[in-house]
Amino acid sequence: MRAVNDRMVELLREAGVTLAGVYWCPHAPDAECDCRKPKPGQIHRALRELGGDLCGACVIGDRAADIDLAHNLGLTAVLVRTGYGRATEAALTTPPNFIADDLTAAADFFLLDRA
Ligand SMILES: [Zn+2]
Repeated sequence: MRAVNDRMVELLREAGVTLAGVYWCPHAPDAECDCRKPKPGQIHRALRELGGDLCGACVIGDRAADIDLAHNLGLTAVLVRTGYGRATEAALTTPPNFIADDLTAAADFFLLDRA
């Protein structure tokens, strides 16, 4: 997981994007922790550590838990069709606000949504 995250950070950096932090839940799915999506624990931790707020924020992801996290926080939910996105799209029970073919399309939607 760390290698995947490191590669993601590297690819984003090459595209001119700098991440303030990368957060993940270290607990087992059945641990009932508050930091595994769709629960908002990691978002609240990031806000404590990095400052800022969720005004104008959105959640972009490829899993139903990402969409549910956005809805739990009252944020715009964007599903990307990359990764697990197409399988997630086929089985959605809670629709996202937008479905994007990839992260670039999701970012374009996010920027236009805020304009
Ligand atoms: Zn956790």
